[in-house]
Amino acid sequence: MTMIGVLGGGQLGRMLALAGYPLGLRFRFLDPAAEAPAEHLAERLIQDFRDSHHLDRFTAGLDVITYEFENVPVELARKLEQTLPVYPPPAALEASQDRLSEKTLFQRLGLPTAPFAPVQSRDELHSALDHLGFPAILKTRRFGYDGKGQHAIQAPADAETAWGELAGVPLLLEGFVPFERELSQLAVRGRDGATAFYPLVENHHEGGILRRSLAPAPGTNGTLQNLACEYGTRVLQALNYVGVLAIEFFCRGGELIANEMAPRVHNSGHWTIEGAQTSQFENHLRAVLGWPLGSTALVQPCAMFNLIGQLPDCQALLSLPDVHVHLYGKTPRPGRKLGHVTVRAANQRQLREKLQRVSGVGRRELK
Ligand code: AMP
Repeated sequence: MTMIGVLGGGQLGRMLALAGYPLGLRFRFLDPAAEAPAEHLAERLIQDFRDSHHLDRFTAGLDVITYEFENVPVELARKLEQTLPVYPPPAALEASQDRLSEKTLFQRLGLPTAPFAPVQSRDELHSALDHLGFPAILKTRRFGYDGKGQHAIQAPADAETAWGELAGVPLLLEGFVPFERELSQLAVRGRDGATAFYPLVENHHEGGILRRSLAPAPGTNGTLQNLACEYGTRVLQALNYVGVLAIEFFCRGGELIANEMAPRVHNSGHWTIEGAQTSQFENHLRAVLGWPLGSTALVQPCAMFNLIGQLPDCQALLSLPDVHVHLYGKTPRPGRKLGHVTVRAANQRQLREKLQRVSGVGRRELK
């Protein structure tokens, strides 16, 4: 039986396992956290990611290793790669862990980005602000997620506050992009180099956390979709990528401005479980195993809501037709992603109508 080792045991790992069981796959997770949603389904080893010794228990009997969170230390992935295939390639981890190398890669491949400058000192911050102007956003280069590790600088007076809050680690200043909406492209590439792309998704964030995705992104024409596929192809090929890759874009008119990428299955792709012919989770597994990729075609338009901090009345939601509830088995805590709900409808008009009923039933958690 094929056995997959996964670094990280969060909800993404859990959904990978859920997609893999029908294919006869088995899983082992490595995650140091107190609570790991994947451990309800499969063996979980508790080990610090920085500890690259004692890996034999994890690697024993594995066929391939993948990861479900992008802060896996690159050295660990490289060490594991000496004995087993590790996909996506550690080079993709490396590029995505540092906002400077990520944006530099995008730029090298001709993907538009916000103007940016590395910042190591107060002087560099001031000269970067002189260069990029206001407003701007100061971000930590590493370990930023869900809107953490960044500070908006609207005017010169904000610069000291931002510096006071973030100084001490390598930083990046970005010019503010006045975008109309945020879109993401989920792409997948197999071991043989075959690629497939899901329809563009429109994402709505609050406080830097993804709240809602609409798939396909309403009003998106073929030209924009083709542009996203072109950009996705460049990144996949440059990294000799294998697996699912998410690229997040700011959209302004017909322009796509690359903000960041995640070398893993992604929250904005959860709708694919019910909304695409092959889910992102199954396609990621097929890709890392060297199996044929499944169709990424849309089954029906979907909206996906994250359940954050507290759960709504899930039974009431389940009483509505074609509403799908996914709970991760996590202890509720403010700001924590506890699950998601996917709403599916035959067309965009029906989806809008259904969403009104769903937000009535789901109360304010489903705004
Ligand atoms: P990030 O951690 O880079 O994904 O940023 C979190 C959110 O902040 C994004 O989803 C955007 O809504 C916003 N944001 C980040 N960078 C920029 C930028 N350069 N211009 C405008 N908005 C941004």
